[in-house]
Amino acid sequence: MFSSGGAVKLSFEPSLTLKQVESENEEVVEGQYDPADCTARQSVAILIPHRNRERHLLYLLHHLHPFLQRQQLHYAIYVIHQAGDATFNRAKLLNVGYLEALKDWSWDCFIFHDVDLVPENDQNLYVCAEQPKHLVVGRNSTGYKLRYKGYFGGVSAMTKEQFLKVNGFPNSYWGWGGEDDDLRIRIQLQKMVILRPSPEVARYTMVFHSRDSGNQVNKERMQLLRRTPQTWKADGLNSCSYKIESVNRAPLFINITADIGQPERAQ
Ligand code: BGC
Repeated sequence: MFSSGGAVKLSFEPSLTLKQVESENEEVVEGQYDPADCTARQSVAILIPHRNRERHLLYLLHHLHPFLQRQQLHYAIYVIHQAGDATFNRAKLLNVGYLEALKDWSWDCFIFHDVDLVPENDQNLYVCAEQPKHLVVGRNSTGYKLRYKGYFGGVSAMTKEQFLKVNGFPNSYWGWGGEDDDLRIRIQLQKMVILRPSPEVARYTMVFHSRDSGNQVNKERMQLLRRTPQTWKADGLNSCSYKIESVNRAPLFINITADIGQPERAQ
């Protein structure tokens, strides 16, 4: 499984099944794991926004559970599923995940995780630091280069307090793009800085897919981003309204289905 320097060999077998991943992870109970022989340094909630990406989710669960266990973390994986077919809203789903996960446990650290990104190196630690962390420096699809200086998308880590301090993500970004840049601006407004592991460690494989229907590019994102300094205080965790449709505690993840509404104007 290992080679030197923490690099892990990843596999994406078309024949992989959920049953198989479950049987490989019998110590995970209702999406949660706590190491038996030590006290974990942090309790970490992994939040994965989701809609219609079952295969990606399966590949991610397959790699993430053993990866997190090797890091000896107390963790749980939450999949936050957007009900209905309104335009996708990644950021609002992550706010919902944060608020709902805290009802289960007082998590120290939250990892905001895209479903299609699989970590390639065990030294990419899924713990929080004194400043927000961005865990994706590179991915196979970008030649393992950081997309741009302020990029904060894909996978990021913030403590419970850091996320509260910035009022979480905005709820008003429907469709693809911008919400991660908005979170970066919120962080900068609070005079926090973003840390990154080294490029050799912060590497991911992106499972190929074409743009999802229901997640068209958000053409308003640049306009919204210009207004973040004025809007962040009123648009975030403190204004996140939603309805939980179901919470299903499956063996490998907690599946939260939420009705988060739809964009105010048709897009
Ligand atoms: C978008 C971000 C996205 C990034 C990288 C930016 O233009 O606003 O949301 O993560 O591009 O693709």
